[in-house]
Amino acid sequence: MKPFEYSRLESPQHLATIANGRFLGGGTNLIDLMKHQIETPDMLVDVTRAGMDRIEERDGAVVIGSQVSNTNLAADPLIRSRYSVLSSALLSGATQQLRNKATTGGNLLQRTRCQYFYDTTRACNKREPGSGCDALNGLNRFHAILGASEHCIAVHPSDMAVAMVALDAVVHTRNADGAERRIPVADLHRLPGDRPDLDHVLEDGELIVAVELPGTPPRRQAYRKVRDRASYAFAVVSAAVVLDIDDGEMRNLRIGLGGVAHKPWRATRAEAALEGKAPDAALFMQAMKREMADASGYGHNDFKMALAPRVVVSMLKELTGLGEN
Ligand SMILES: Cc1cc2nc3c(=O)[nH]c(=O)nc-3n(C[C@H](O)[C@H](O)[C@H](O)COP(=O)(O)OP(=O)(O)OC[C@H]3O[C@@H](n4cnc5c(N)ncnc54)[C@H](O)[C@@H]3O)c2cc1C
Ligand code: SF4
Repeated sequence: MKPFEYSRLESPQHLATIANGRFLGGGTNLIDLMKHQIETPDMLVDVTRAGMDRIEERDGAVVIGSQVSNTNLAADPLIRSRYSVLSSALLSGATQQLRNKATTGGNLLQRTRCQYFYDTTRACNKREPGSGCDALNGLNRFHAILGASEHCIAVHPSDMAVAMVALDAVVHTRNADGAERRIPVADLHRLPGDRPDLDHVLEDGELIVAVELPGTPPRRQAYRKVRDRASYAFAVVSAAVVLDIDDGEMRNLRIGLGGVAHKPWRATRAEAALEGKAPDAALFMQAMKREMADASGYGHNDFKMALAPRVVVSMLKELTGLGEN
């Protein structure tokens, strides 16, 4: 590992410019990448003791400090009762030990699990821009079917972020000049385009301070993760679905998909096709086919184009009382 300086942030107000530095949350992703020399920061700024570890209700909304651990977030009574989809998503990720260390901010900004990204002997435009992409013609079973480019077909690995997208969560940030931004989680991550080395829209040194959840989420919520093992495995496909039913019609329907794109994918086409309609299994499938209209596989991951719609249809049936498949 390359030598680096270490400092500790006392509060978001004390943030200073960090040239070629990185914030250190739980370190469960960043330190691994530093050991592989994929990330080589000159400085780590430990943000775990900067007073960003609380979950608070403010004006009805819930504000989660960026250093709240995945374990504490999943177990919080307010999160479990009002945002059960988020709690379920968190508990489906990694292992208890990892969740104890992993933080809300770090989970959002964790990097892809594409195996060619971690293997420094292989071509990877995300790790080394312009070097190519060995996943395109390689073992791409876990890779993207939506929004990918010829430069990168990696997926974002976070379960938590998929639930946050469905909950319309908003990230609060601050930079060294004190400037603050509010960014919907749905807009935080980028599609790869011709710059797959850029995962998100944050600037260098921009700190995630908190994540805000709207105070009145839809009442019916579910998270489902399809994976190769029952635990300790990333999603092949996952989905977060939330909705209300008023007067027999689906309202406030929001669908987040994981394991299918470079970012947690908000299924807006399917949502538009279903909002205000009465639950109907055939309509569910039509809506998801509409969502998948531009999807394409790369060989080993072709099966996801059929799997993703089926997962969502099954969840919609359950949530609307039409029963399982
Ligand atoms: C074996 C294994 C299995 C896993 N399985 C899953 C899984 O099934 N599902 C899943 O979702 N995840 C899984 N993970 C990933 C794990 O959830 C992430 O490593 C973790 O959430 C990252 O959080 P962290 O706080 O440790 O981040 P760190 O490693 O500390 O940081 C990650 C990135 O976020 C940046 N960062 C951290 N905090 C901030 C902040 N406040 N503001 C701005 N930038 C910040 C860092 O600079 C770094 O770039 C797994 C990890 C491992 C090792
Ligand atoms: S899919 Fe993306 S991360 Fe994976 S090898 Fe290709 S460029 Fe790298």
